[in-house]
Amino acid sequence: MSDSCIFCKIVSDEAKATIVFRDGQVTAFRDTHPVAPTHILIVPNKHIESVSALEIEDEPLIGHLFTVARKLAEEEGIAKGGYRLITNTGTNGGQTIFHLHLHLIGGQRMRHPMG
Ligand code: AMP
Ligand code: ZN
Repeated sequence: MSDSCIFCKIVSDEAKATIVFRDGQVTAFRDTHPVAPTHILIVPNKHIESVSALEIEDEPLIGHLFTVARKLAEEEGIAKGGYRLITNTGTNGGQTIFHLHLHLIGGQRMRHPMG
């Protein structure tokens, strides 16, 4: 837990969010500035700054983030049509919140390039 991290505060219910899934490892909630009809952020409950801070023991947790994304995509009705998963990493990667998160984005046809 990082005292100044908004996603840690959402995980611990100190800050409000529209939570769509939570278990012992991850929390998923709707992005406040959605870029598509479905835009959900899936975050580890423990504070990990970014992919750059991952340790080998985090591998099962990161696998779980993806299976939760798959389950939520099914629940949102976007699994069949397809969707996009993004993890911005570091400033040049476009990361603005330094608590690792997976964007689950869908419900419309994505254009290239990303973003
Ligand atoms: P990134 O640029 O990859 O770090 O993405 C951060 C995302 O977090 C952006 O899409 C923001 O709209 C979203 N965001 C920021 N603050 C909140 C919040 N309090 N609740 C939900 N989403 C947020
Ligand atoms: Zn955090």
